[in-house]
Amino acid sequence: MNKIILVFLIILSGIKPVSALFLDVNIYHNFKVKAIDFSPTSGKYTLEADERIIRDFHKGISINISPLRDSVLLQINHYNVGLYKEVSLYGRGFINSFSLSSKKDSLPLRFYDDNLKIRVIDGRLQLLNNVDLEHYVAGVVQAEVGGSSKDIQFFYVQAVSCRTYALVNYLKHTVDGYNLCDQVHCQYYLGKSINSDIIRAVARTSGEVIIDSTGRMISAAFHSNCGGETVNSEDVWTNSTSYLKSRIDTFCTSMSKAKWEVTIAKDDFLTILYQAFDFPLEDSISVDSALHFTQEHRKVFFIHSIPLKRIRQEFGFRSTFFSIESKNDSLHIKGRGFGHGVGLCQQGAIKMAELGINYHDIIKYYYKDTHIIHYSELKYNFMP
Ligand SMILES: [Zn+2]
Ligand SMILES: [Zn+2]
Repeated sequence: MNKIILVFLIILSGIKPVSALFLDVNIYHNFKVKAIDFSPTSGKYTLEADERIIRDFHKGISINISPLRDSVLLQINHYNVGLYKEVSLYGRGFINSFSLSSKKDSLPLRFYDDNLKIRVIDGRLQLLNNVDLEHYVAGVVQAEVGGSSKDIQFFYVQAVSCRTYALVNYLKHTVDGYNLCDQVHCQYYLGKSINSDIIRAVARTSGEVIIDSTGRMISAAFHSNCGGETVNSEDVWTNSTSYLKSRIDTFCTSMSKAKWEVTIAKDDFLTILYQAFDFPLEDSISVDSALHFTQEHRKVFFIHSIPLKRIRQEFGFRSTFFSIESKNDSLHIKGRGFGHGVGLCQQGAIKMAELGINYHDIIKYYYKDTHIIHYSELKYNFMP
């Protein structure tokens, strides 16, 4: 196509001519991979090893990859292709994807977009999915919320949040030689998305990230259900931000994780308080306050300045937002919400999406004074 017409079409369509951004994601991060089979599932692949192009591969061919001392051994049908230090399988088709599996290590079969890089670290294979940012975002949304059908606006929210996280944490694993791992330490990622709504939501929000009032991308904290009131970040963690601020949430209170209740024997409760916090059991006023502790609105501390987050940890409660009802020898702990309560309340966001509220408004509701822009418009460089 004529270049001038192409530029004109790009302007007309509103698509920003931004070159694709690729991430190196360490896949099968929680496995010790000793052997794996690579098979193209669409497109075609070029094998590059030690800075040389070796050959092309099409669908139907399976390459067995294993470590041999500190090198990568490649075999097809038990015939050696070669022994290399660094191996890359680059997709050369219009759409490229591949499968990975291993009978030997009983690894789960997974499907990935784009490219694969392999090297040997400590006698095991290190597998990096060199993946387009947008494909990665679709995979993360799939792994995190893809199992159930959601309104498209909720997938927009998830796509923008996961993309922001990926770029904020672009350098998180630099010392390990890649950008992100595929576990919750970074973001859960099990390969390509198969949900057409998620793929559509990612394409529709392509490149969009959330920035705070100073123009920097935000740390997009989220939790399951806030119980009707979110929490300041400084009340749970040490750092205060302009956008992770407590607010009343009227959307999540009728959702499945809005309420919880547990019953504990009064003596057990007091014993744990004493053991964990040296609680003064001889002081009847303190004991009475503890046994009748209530929260109309969220508090930060339990009795005697014990942080509620420590109480939550010690007793394994779903949230810090609870009140205590004392009856005979039992305590009924009546709680609201599920999770730390900071940032976006997922069930509230799901409800807002069901009500047809736009994803920009959902994000602004939970992240104070924020905006959505394309990452190419950022005023600073997030990948020096
Ligand atoms: Zn990680
Ligand atoms: Zn909520």
